Amino acid sequence: MILTNLTRANEIGANSYLLDFGEDGRIVLDAGMHPRGEGIQGLPQLEKLKFDSVDAILVSHAHHDHTGALPLLMRDHPSARVFLSEATYYLSEPLLHNSVQVMLKQKAEKGIAEYPLFTHRELDQLVKVWQACGLQRPWSLQGYPDPENEPLTFDFHDAGHILGSTGTALRHRGRTIFYTGDVNFADQTLVRGAEFPRDGIDVLITETTRGSQARPEGFTREAEVERLAAAIEQTFARGGAVLMPVFAMGKTQELLAQLHFFQKSRRLPETPIYIGGLGRSFCEIYDRLAGRTRRKYPKLRLLEDIQYQVMDGRRAGQFSPKKGHIYLISSGMMTENTLSNIFAQEFLAHDRHSIFFVGYCDPESPAGRLRATKQGDPVTLNASYGAQPVRCRVEHFDFTAHGQREDLLQYILDVNPRACVLVHGDPPALAWFQQELAAQAPGMKVIVPPAGEGIEL
Ligand SMILES: [Zn+2]
Ligand SMILES: [Zn+2]
Repeated sequence: MILTNLTRANEIGANSYLLDFGEDGRIVLDAGMHPRGEGIQGLPQLEKLKFDSVDAILVSHAHHDHTGALPLLMRDHPSARVFLSEATYYLSEPLLHNSVQVMLKQKAEKGIAEYPLFTHRELDQLVKVWQACGLQRPWSLQGYPDPENEPLTFDFHDAGHILGSTGTALRHRGRTIFYTGDVNFADQTLVRGAEFPRDGIDVLITETTRGSQARPEGFTREAEVERLAAAIEQTFARGGAVLMPVFAMGKTQELLAQLHFFQKSRRLPETPIYIGGLGRSFCEIYDRLAGRTRRKYPKLRLLEDIQYQVMDGRRAGQFSPKKGHIYLISSGMMTENTLSNIFAQEFLAHDRHSIFFVGYCDPESPAGRLRATKQGDPVTLNASYGAQPVRCRVEHFDFTAHGQREDLLQYILDVNPRACVLVHGDPPALAWFQQELAAQAPGMKVIVPPAGEGIEL
């Protein structure tokens, strides 16, 4: 088997990996778009693949850094079948339609000529090819369940990262290759921790997102939940409001449920919670699939049981934060011209307000820059507003949807594969895993696949 890392660099960017089993099949795992990359530079190196040379595309989960280039990959490989979990199927469609909207906006604002890279109409056609596959049962590359005498099959396993996220096992002539996708081993508020196989895996391809962050001494999720409640309470006591920049998919639903539990248990007063329009669409899917996934609180209906309000983006210009209100607004990285970036201007100027981060953000994104700025120092979140001093409280809470590095390392050691391929991590994160594995599993072959090159495994 030859693995080609189709990303443009060893980083968390446009994820995509080709697994070439020769005559038995050519499979692409994920086809993402870089969160910061623009135009063609934001895509994986799809040009490395000959036209119509892929048999199957397996999508691990609906996040944009794993699905954003899927329509382009499908266009280049019209015979390829596309397999995903049921929840990923439902979540990816609105996500990619939103991506068209974002590209159209960026075309107008930044003059990126090649945008949009695909259209709504094209997407409507491509989605018809997608096939949702049940978890923990084998599938053939032709899309049949429980096949017999197939040289190459795959099975999906719950990855505990967002609703529908999966790890993928590829079974090829007695050997198993397992790709983790993005994984979390611990329970979140709604999504339960991963249920991954540990036996008989020869090659493990694993994400390494949190490799450069040690788990803080005494860290527990429960303590982090309580710290968030206390910080919101303090903001309200100062007469302020809370802005939480979140991804519309995943973090919005997790935090909405958590805030609801704070209010229900009277830990916090019942004050208005605002979410974005796109976040609301994903809540609908989280509700629709509540009983058909491993979601906690399957009876909780986010849109019926929780008092929320949808923020109208068209009125963003007249926005001013109100005392005691909470705004769960995308984007999580506060990308320029998204609502959370625009709203942040109103929060920055006043020390009664708070901006709370609850997940991963790229250090070079506006959110990453704000997190690295001390109170009182200036920060530029948007070139058109210029630098502004940070007067509000800025804090980070670890509600990560990615496995702690200690948990991930333990998983690798338990699996004890012949070869471990490290992906989806920045260089310091990759380096930590390399170093730990060299010390703790000296017999294991550890590989950081160079971008764009094929390696024989
Ligand atoms: Zn993800
Ligand atoms: Zn990812």
